[in-house]
Amino acid sequence: MTDRSVLHGIGVSAGTASGPAAVVTPPAGVDEAEPPSVDPEADGQRVREVLEQVAASLRERARHANSETSAAVLEATAALATDRGLIKGVAKELQKGSGPTRAIFDAVEVYAAKLRKLGGYMAERVTDLYDIRDRAIARLRGVAEPGVPALSRPSVLVAHDLAPAETATLDPALVRGIVTAGGGATSHTAILAAQLGIPAAVQVKGIHTLLASEGEVELAIDGGVGEVIVAPTPEDVAELKERSRRRAAALAGSSGEGATRDGHRVKLLANIGTAADAAQAAAADIEGSGLFRTEFLFLDREAAPSVEEQTATYAEVLRSFGTRRVVVRTLDAGADKPLSFADLGPEDNPALGRRGLRLSQAREDLLDAQLSALAASHKLVPEADLWVMAPMVTTVEETQWFADKARAYGLPRVGVMVETPAAAVRAKHLLALVDFASIGTNDLSQYTMAADRMQGELAHLLNPWQPAVLSMVRATCRGGEATGKPVGVCGEAGGDPLLALVLVGLGVTSLSMAPSRVGAVRAALRSHDIDTCRQMANFAEDAPTAADARAAVLALADPVLRDLL
Ligand code: PEP
Ligand code: MG
Repeated sequence: MTDRSVLHGIGVSAGTASGPAAVVTPPAGVDEAEPPSVDPEADGQRVREVLEQVAASLRERARHANSETSAAVLEATAALATDRGLIKGVAKELQKGSGPTRAIFDAVEVYAAKLRKLGGYMAERVTDLYDIRDRAIARLRGVAEPGVPALSRPSVLVAHDLAPAETATLDPALVRGIVTAGGGATSHTAILAAQLGIPAAVQVKGIHTLLASEGEVELAIDGGVGEVIVAPTPEDVAELKERSRRRAAALAGSSGEGATRDGHRVKLLANIGTAADAAQAAAADIEGSGLFRTEFLFLDREAAPSVEEQTATYAEVLRSFGTRRVVVRTLDAGADKPLSFADLGPEDNPALGRRGLRLSQAREDLLDAQLSALAASHKLVPEADLWVMAPMVTTVEETQWFADKARAYGLPRVGVMVETPAAAVRAKHLLALVDFASIGTNDLSQYTMAADRMQGELAHLLNPWQPAVLSMVRATCRGGEATGKPVGVCGEAGGDPLLALVLVGLGVTSLSMAPSRVGAVRAALRSHDIDTCRQMANFAEDAPTAADARAAVLALADPVLRDLL
């Protein structure tokens, strides 16, 4: 019998749930009793076959995935399973005399080290690579593949970490919640869980004891605040249900345009990555898209997409939104999002290297193709309210270069993202040259706090409540006020209902976020007037720490806000 305990982690997908814990099967690991390879050729063939089988089963799951994003993640993992470099690495280990499971284990380790060195998105693929390794080893050993058990009733999944390939195929009807010991707030797992609407908490301290425990354990989870109750009492479960009910009630009354209680307008927009995302978001009560991450369309492409193909995709997105605003971001490739057709070679520090607009300057042909496709799509859908912006801008020269180019293609509204302290403190000068700015708080936090956004252990520094980050937002909004130009936020911070109040108080004029967050942010705004938002902004920016900033704002907030978090 397990004792009741309350564990804490980072909430990454709001909602509450309870149910029996379903522990994700740990990997079998290397067969320590396996004899060394005496026929590396034959063993190599066997490993190749097994890797092919793993790839085929991943592709099969991609076919049944419940969204385009999930299918793309699975396809990408399948491609990695039959990667030539990996297969060569296994052959090398077999030649050295390792048995098949040891060979695949060691070869993957060598490959993973290379990916880690590349950093960013490539480093994130290491989780996928380990997933492939564990599945292949299980097949070689003839034991059950690790991963999510077959569920016969609704359960809460518990894992060290979940591979994106696992998360992508979860059935929300059977998986009531996800609790992991590892993982980061911007990991694939977190993004996919939110997309599937499954309450989830990552980095839950103390959950590892449960992973090792035998027998059935009940769990209750609040994925909004990141709380997990082990062996909850009936009162706990009732309290969580009540929280859910209050949340639904708080959300129920809010629809339509975003505005504070006293009518200060704030456009509420959706972040999208594909035409399917656009269609889904456009069907919701949302005022348009404030960030179309176009690089998400091409992450798995070997060759640059043609102008015709891009035109068709952009036109489809514009059509979905009718006359509503669509802010398209030009390719933000490099660092955590490398595109093979736009690879400028390895860099020691990719996040500080030629990424975003810098990459577009090195590969002007790619930007030209994209701007020309955007202009063509606008001709096909002339009623669209098309805005175009560049990522990772730091100087006036870069801004001028991009604005001249975009305007030469006849694009009606041209802007820049503010993702670096340099752009924030010089916003007035940048905005003088363009029509709008949009703050990417994910990167702005990374660069202000000098903390790699992919590193889960640095979550405390990457927290957008850090007063230093808020000062950067303030500086950008001052630039907006001085030039009379709108300043939006399109990083994850905009989807936090409490922080959204602060951002609006700092002077942000639109908020773009995961579509599932819009309801809570709208309800939060409706419950506060603009003067309160401004007061919150002052308190938060003046606070000595991120925790103090959040506490000060929560103290000023309407009690309804606690139900929206
Ligand atoms: C950001 O950095 O906040 C942003 C919106 O861009 P991305 O997350 O795609 O880097
Ligand atoms: Mg960014």
